[in-house]
Amino acid sequence: MVINRKAFLLIVAFLIVVSLLGVWFLNTAKSIDAGVHSRVFSVVIDAGHGGIDGGAEGTNTSVKESDLNLEIARHLKSKFQDIGVNVIMTRNSYGGLYGTTAKGFKKRDLEKRVKIINNSNADVLVSIHLNCYSSPKRRGATVFFGEGKQEGERLAKSVQKHFNTLSAQPKDYSATRGDYYLLNQSKIPAVICECGFLSSPEDEKLLLTEAYQKEIAEKIFYGVIEYLSLQGE
Ligand SMILES: [Zn+2]
Repeated sequence: MVINRKAFLLIVAFLIVVSLLGVWFLNTAKSIDAGVHSRVFSVVIDAGHGGIDGGAEGTNTSVKESDLNLEIARHLKSKFQDIGVNVIMTRNSYGGLYGTTAKGFKKRDLEKRVKIINNSNADVLVSIHLNCYSSPKRRGATVFFGEGKQEGERLAKSVQKHFNTLSAQPKDYSATRGDYYLLNQSKIPAVICECGFLSSPEDEKLLLTEAYQKEIAEKIFYGVIEYLSLQGE
């Protein structure tokens, strides 16, 4: 086939347009990709209780749940900050958020936490607590999500999966639905992590060590990161 000059020029022009479109498409795809991957995530960490509200008490040492919650929360905070995740702490001291200790302080405390959470624009809420039970035999770390909260449930399952790999986890637990004010009120995906039982002498002993507090924080960290990385899939 003989291609005349006009046809040849048309083909060259067509090829130039195609390659320019290709470059444009690649650049667009690259910038979308960069946008997704450079997105800064934010996490609210809520250390449960505080001040005169100590929460549960250690069965042997009477250690306050509120103090251990704060220790775990601080370890978790530094894990997130190490990889550039923005962290908002509802409290970073031993005090509560209720202002005065007058009547209704517990309600005021929780309302303040909800306000911080819902004004945070964060991606998730992790509330740190320790459990207690009538039998000293019950042990281990469990995660709760709110009724009808699909994203909270996904997040809870992700954290529970990692909790089940804790060196001292007695058995595999499933994430559980729980009727908690914080979970019901939170507008962002939220979980309550009950990181162990202060009614169990064994758990209490572990939870008092920095090594185990760090291990707990690490598992929560992995659970949250896995949840965030699978978002939108
Ligand atoms: Zn608690």
